[in-house]
Amino acid sequence: MKKIPAFFHSSQLAFKPKYEWALGHRIKHPETTRRAESIFQALKKDEQCFELHEPQKIPLKEIRESHSYELMTLYQTAASLPDDETFYPSVFPQRLKAQANPSNLSHAGFYCFDSGTPLNNKTWEAACWSAACAIDAMKVVVKGKYPYSYALSRPPGHHASYDSYGGYCYFNNIALVARELKKKNRVAILDIDFHHGNGTQDIFYEDSDVLTISIHGDPRSYFPYFRGFPSEAGSGAGAGYNHNIILPKGTRYPEYKKTLNDIVFPMIRYFEPDYLLIAAGFDTYKLDPIGHFDLETPDYQKMGKQIKDLNLPTIIVQEGGYYTKDLGANVSSFLKGFLS
Ligand SMILES: [Zn+2]
Repeated sequence: MKKIPAFFHSSQLAFKPKYEWALGHRIKHPETTRRAESIFQALKKDEQCFELHEPQKIPLKEIRESHSYELMTLYQTAASLPDDETFYPSVFPQRLKAQANPSNLSHAGFYCFDSGTPLNNKTWEAACWSAACAIDAMKVVVKGKYPYSYALSRPPGHHASYDSYGGYCYFNNIALVARELKKKNRVAILDIDFHHGNGTQDIFYEDSDVLTISIHGDPRSYFPYFRGFPSEAGSGAGAGYNHNIILPKGTRYPEYKKTLNDIVFPMIRYFEPDYLLIAAGFDTYKLDPIGHFDLETPDYQKMGKQIKDLNLPTIIVQEGGYYTKDLGANVSSFLKGFLS
């Protein structure tokens, strides 16, 4: 059995958000560098199962296909902030009535949908390397070197849309991969993060080449609040190619497994994708501070095995997961499911 290649670059740790504004409260930022370090250490100590690689720098044109010029300019504007400054948007204009200049950070709220996703002079660099992990994870699978690969993408990506950021996400790493693959292939994205993958949904909403499925907590109670309902099923050519599945607070693995077997896997098989992409969030863990399912560490290995049994080339891209003490063990458990 081949090892699973995992991609990570130390420059992803340069970005250190300290706090966020959550429903009016200033709280410690959950998206810390400790997350990536926890995963990296867990994979590193298991050399029999995992191979760690640094990704190559990616040309900006690979990001431009999935994100607007203005969004990228905004991050580059923030790159010239002094070291001790971090920008949190606090004014969010209604887009149809506003115009914005991405070279002016005061206009950041035009491109952002929450106050939990700060910009500083390291955001751009970390986000570019996070995207590079996903692209290189894709390349080794496309070349047929490995059936499965893992991108330790941090910051995460699934809340970022073509022209907006939020939910700790700047570039939609998994969408970059899907956009590249769909040039010649059919692609299915399964999002198993606790939160709805609103950015990924938006990017492929009118697309019939990319099937998007997200399993998540109820948006009436949890982020991203305004997206993720079953009625959002795609439009135009993409009608019927987006699926949102809501599970209740406290969901344990038997129910999650049944959802995969009875609802999700039949959809994927029917679509007949050439590649499967997993937006792998681990904030479904029972101790996660901002997720509210009850999955346990061994459950992730069972889930990985179930997904592996679909028998598709699979690229796994890291999303959320904020209980850093066990995050590495949870990621390792999930990936080992693909080796079992
Ligand atoms: Zn999440």
